[in-house]
Amino acid sequence: MFIGHFAVGMGAKVLQPKLSLGTLFMAAQFLDLLWPSLLMLNIEHVTISPGITEIAPLDFDSYPISHSLGMVFLWAILFSFIYYFKSFDRKSAIVLGVCVLSHWLLDLIVHRPDLPISPINELKVGFGLWHSLYGTIIIETMLFVVGIWIYYNSSRKNNTIVSWGFWALIGLMYLIYLINIFGPVPDSAEDIAIGAQFQWLFVIWAYWIDRRKWSLAIAKEYLVRKRAI
Ligand SMILES: [Zn+2]
Repeated sequence: MFIGHFAVGMGAKVLQPKLSLGTLFMAAQFLDLLWPSLLMLNIEHVTISPGITEIAPLDFDSYPISHSLGMVFLWAILFSFIYYFKSFDRKSAIVLGVCVLSHWLLDLIVHRPDLPISPINELKVGFGLWHSLYGTIIIETMLFVVGIWIYYNSSRKNNTIVSWGFWALIGLMYLIYLINIFGPVPDSAEDIAIGAQFQWLFVIWAYWIDRRKWSLAIAKEYLVRKRAI
């Protein structure tokens, strides 16, 4: 799953509009942001295996640190705690932790049974939606549209304009999604790891899109606190 995770980031905006889209993207996609670095460090492994599913030609041999349910709980808690100790904002911290967890649940729907339950035992799960090309594209596109729709409405409710930068990002993400599915099979695991690192650009881009909203939210909170004193 790719755009579905970013859809969760956009959708979570309605739960806590003051959270930057960049932070929400980082949480919802955290496991796949971590994974390429672990591949590069030779800690986790993937094999290119054309035809293994209709969508991704990848055999995820081993990714217990980034994608086992046990570790995902830990990452979610860690992400929440770091945000909480930075902001003392409990609600935002909880929303971000749930976003981190959501990644594994969405992966569970699409992956073959290759997602480990715990980092130390062999039990692996996955419902395998990736075996259906159209099923995956339809469901993931629907998720993406719902995410965009929620983000758009929550921005309008908060009197902020949805910028051209947002629509450009949406267009680029969808294009990359289609290239991933219909484009050539990558040459090596190293190429996959390098390509996946570029997802950080989406996070940075999302921070840039939301920068005004972010500063407005902080200013508003500051005024409320000041009035309370
Ligand atoms: Zn993943």
